[in-house]
Amino acid sequence: MNEKKKQAFAFGYAAVPLMVILPPLVYYMWICMEYYGGAMVMPTLEVWRHIPLPTVTSVAIWMGWFGFQAALQIYAPGPWIEGAALVDGSRLKYKMNGWFTWWFTWVCIAAGVYLGWFKPTVLFDHFGPLMTTVHLFAFGLSAWMYLLGKMRPDDGTAELTGNLFHEYFMGTALNPRTGNFDWKLFCEARPGLIGWVAINLSFAAQQYQVHGSLTTPMILVCAFHFFYVADYYFHEEAILSTWDIRHENFGWMLVWGDLAWVPFTYTLQALYLIQHTHDLSLAATVGIVALNVAGYLIFRITNIQKHNFRKNPEALIWGKKPEFIKTQKGSVLLLSGMWGIARHLNYLGDLMMALAWCLVCGFGNLLPYFYIIYFTILLVHRERRDHVTCAAKYGKDWEDYCAKVRWRIVPGVY
Ligand code: NDP
Repeated sequence: MNEKKKQAFAFGYAAVPLMVILPPLVYYMWICMEYYGGAMVMPTLEVWRHIPLPTVTSVAIWMGWFGFQAALQIYAPGPWIEGAALVDGSRLKYKMNGWFTWWFTWVCIAAGVYLGWFKPTVLFDHFGPLMTTVHLFAFGLSAWMYLLGKMRPDDGTAELTGNLFHEYFMGTALNPRTGNFDWKLFCEARPGLIGWVAINLSFAAQQYQVHGSLTTPMILVCAFHFFYVADYYFHEEAILSTWDIRHENFGWMLVWGDLAWVPFTYTLQALYLIQHTHDLSLAATVGIVALNVAGYLIFRITNIQKHNFRKNPEALIWGKKPEFIKTQKGSVLLLSGMWGIARHLNYLGDLMMALAWCLVCGFGNLLPYFYIIYFTILLVHRERRDHVTCAAKYGKDWEDYCAKVRWRIVPGVY
């Protein structure tokens, strides 16, 4: 297998096992939370009997939500921005209207609740059937993306492996589009991401309904997540230089990850906190907030430094002209600021925030810590894949960069 094919076969023979194991894992964690107080029980037949079927309401909620977000993606005001250069040198344009969409969505949800069109607990009430609805939708959409890519492969598409399952898993096109509608950007950035925060708030409403008040951990977790996603929209353009957009085909892994995994597992902490109404001491609250803020600053400064540098390599970083390697490929690798300390300090910042979100849940159960465990595995694996891709792309220049910037994610440790 040549180097390009090896990259394309990134998940090797794990594609099918992952598609078989991950959806039940999402159900399992929800069932443990919902029916067993957050304890990790043996996954017996009794446990799986809790898997719900879709309902008319859950299908209506999901289709309404997906359609509403798609309409906003198409019609909401926002500038058209050019993405990174594709292999043929051309650039796709993306409508950056996320900031407007984010706030407009909350105005609509608040109005809907105020006018009595739906209850604030609606997403909690239909969570199980919604999960099944979204899973079926994600498998279907992935099949459509597979066919779309086969019919209209685009220039930047990572080399295909010829293995049906792996191609379905990884996708067959880099930028599948219908007209100007970019399926990958939309799914990455809209229904699942805003859905995650909407579900959290619905869980908070449920806690309020059951207990008559909101606990500090619930307020913290909802505020942290709200801020994280709002910040994403504020810096929306930065997504155009991320790995997913630049290098990852759009297949089951991203479709299901964006639409099902994110909203149904990133909300586990808020789900856990509905029934676990412990409080936090002032010291613990301050410590957790400080961890989240420190993580955020590392994450945001790192990402924005790369983004600004790629837009204008002359712009000062920490008051000095940036040092960089001009690669044979033409692009530039930053050696200053955060990018001179480690190759992925943005991952470290993200992990610190993830830890803060888990810590609010206390130490009663392991399941609320699922996020930091999974996220560590994801980012370590992602860094390895990124390293292989960059090594293949930049060759000797990448070796020079790695020699100068020794640490991968955590300076002094890894
Ligand atoms: P990066 O934004 O770090 O992008 C990596 C790419 O940047 C490389 O492929 C390379 O691409 C380029 N690059 C590498 N080194 C340099 C350098 N020194 N100077 C300039 N460019 C360089 O990684 P990701 O896209 O993986 O992550 C973006 C953010 O998204 C991170 O903060 C991450 O934590 C977050 N994230 C969050 C997830 C979640 O579920 N919450 C999931 C995944 C990521 P090239 O040279 O080809 O441009």
